[in-house]
Amino acid sequence: MIDTKIIKQSMKCGCPKCGTPNVFPHKLTLDVITECASCGLNVRNQDSGDGPAVFLTFILGFLLTPMALILDNMFVVPLWAHAIIWTFAAIGCCIIMMQPLKAYVMALNYKHRGETHGV
Ligand SMILES: [Zn+2]
Repeated sequence: MIDTKIIKQSMKCGCPKCGTPNVFPHKLTLDVITECASCGLNVRNQDSGDGPAVFLTFILGFLLTPMALILDNMFVVPLWAHAIIWTFAAIGCCIIMMQPLKAYVMALNYKHRGETHGV
């Protein structure tokens, strides 16, 4: 069953334990803070591994590939234009979605394994 509380706190890149945003000190990196200022959880121990990248690969593959095919059927788009459009679309989606997905996987890790799971 999908936990909507975890999804909502992950969209804000919140702490896996208390939901206080933001566990990422920088907007374009995946480095996390060492300790949550509110609850004291060691956020670095919530290892997400390759999970966010795998989720993002599947999500973007299933979203962008049909969109490229639909665009190609509706309009005459040269191959070089497809390369430019979908490269920037994929990079933009990765930048937007990677931190919330990492926060989601860390929150799932915290929910099912607790805070004692260390690296
Ligand atoms: Zn916290």
